[in-house]
Amino acid sequence: MTLRIAVVGAGPSGLYAADALSTSGTDVDVLDRLPVPFGLVRYGVAPDHHSIRSVRDTLQKVLEKPGVRLLGGVEVGRDVSVDELLAAYDAVVLTYGASRDRRLDVPGEDLPGSVAATDFVAWYCGHPDADRASIEAALAAARSVVVVGVGNVAVDVTRVLTAPADRLEVTDMPQHVLEALRSTTINDVHVLGRRGPAQATWTTKELKELAELDGVDIVVDDPHDLDLEPVSAALVESDRVVARNVEVIRSWAEHVLDGTHRHIHLHFHSRPAELRGTGRVSSVVVERTTVDADGVARGTGQTYEVGAQLVIRSVGYRGVALDGVPFDARRNVVPNIAGRVVDADGTPVAGLYVAGWIKRGPTGIIGTNKKDAAATVASLLEDLGDDEGAGGDGVVALLAERGVDVVTLEGWASIDAAERALGATRGRERTTIHERGSLITAAHG
Ligand code: NAP
Repeated sequence: MTLRIAVVGAGPSGLYAADALSTSGTDVDVLDRLPVPFGLVRYGVAPDHHSIRSVRDTLQKVLEKPGVRLLGGVEVGRDVSVDELLAAYDAVVLTYGASRDRRLDVPGEDLPGSVAATDFVAWYCGHPDADRASIEAALAAARSVVVVGVGNVAVDVTRVLTAPADRLEVTDMPQHVLEALRSTTINDVHVLGRRGPAQATWTTKELKELAELDGVDIVVDDPHDLDLEPVSAALVESDRVVARNVEVIRSWAEHVLDGTHRHIHLHFHSRPAELRGTGRVSSVVVERTTVDADGVARGTGQTYEVGAQLVIRSVGYRGVALDGVPFDARRNVVPNIAGRVVDADGTPVAGLYVAGWIKRGPTGIIGTNKKDAAATVASLLEDLGDDEGAGGDGVVALLAERGVDVVTLEGWASIDAAERALGATRGRERTTIHERGSLITAAHG
């Protein structure tokens, strides 16, 4: 009998794992708590990054492979447990990613107007769980925004906040998102890096895109930020990406502003010490830092204040524990050896595997997950490749018994068609349907 594997998560890691598994001849059920596939390709990659988002065409082909089945709208841990999956399948591969935000742990962080980039990104991508009301209220009040962090997500958020409307209209953002962004009166976005420009984790291509936005100027608020400490100078010497990033920022520090109305201010050696405001955030107290010989940011005690009605902390994603699965609470990943989930003693849990961000943490580009998923599948096949599959289709029956409204590939095709039809009403290729109820209705045709 054919091996039957459950993959938990229909994002890039899950679908790359499903691809490798089906190529080896196993049957695969891909479960996702959302009624739609593609994970962060749909709900994380910025909508104006068309070529990166087009990876969904490749992922769609995986869903269409014989032996691969989508079970959308099924939340593992609520609708079905990991133990039930382990009993019903020959193996389970967890690829549920890192969905939560990391915190700053500074006073005022929970004031209205202070949001996590994970939530802001979810909102502009049309995620069904996005908190529309609080994001849209903060956006409507914003003249000045502080974005904390200097990674690629911070660049995405900054670009979406400052991009001209015509750049966003050709995306698949929900209509209400387009309208909210079009009507903002944001003049300034301040991006804070707690270390120097050499330690920023953004990539040069993404960084340079900021300067290509019409009507936007980039300001390096303190040109002394480009005086590199020995540890930063050594990084520039040894790493070409770092050298290019610093060169780009240096060119911006030197150029003459043309007086256009939106500004992106880059602040380095600057970490948030406190968010202030009465009832909602109105400013951020920033502490100046230096970078020590180990590359760590050290506070100087010297502070300044930046006015901001919206603060977006873009300081990384965080994985969360799943009931019945070992978890490394320090690294926020599922502990594993070469993709084999291990318990606290390092003993492998039979039949349980892990791939993607929940295996290695929230790093790398989409393609990184292909290699990562293939490595996990190789471990799985090494363990089970010669086994007779136990077969059975018990989980689908169990879900039906529990009244779970499972969205299959046909349901997803109906959602896809409905989104294209909605887009066409305004001359757009697609408009993302953001409400879960509307997605389910569309799934039923
Ligand atoms: P990231 O690259 O890890 O950036 C996190 C940023 O937050 C860093 O600048 C970090 O500074 C800063 N930070 C962390 N804790 C902080 C604190 N307490 N106070 C102040 N700053 C703090 O993560 P990300 O931007 O969320 O991106 C996640 C992954 O997705 C990355 O691999 C990224 O490349 C990828 N991604 C790629 C694209 C693309 O290719 N276009 C787009 C989006 C995301 P330190 O370095 O000092 O810790």
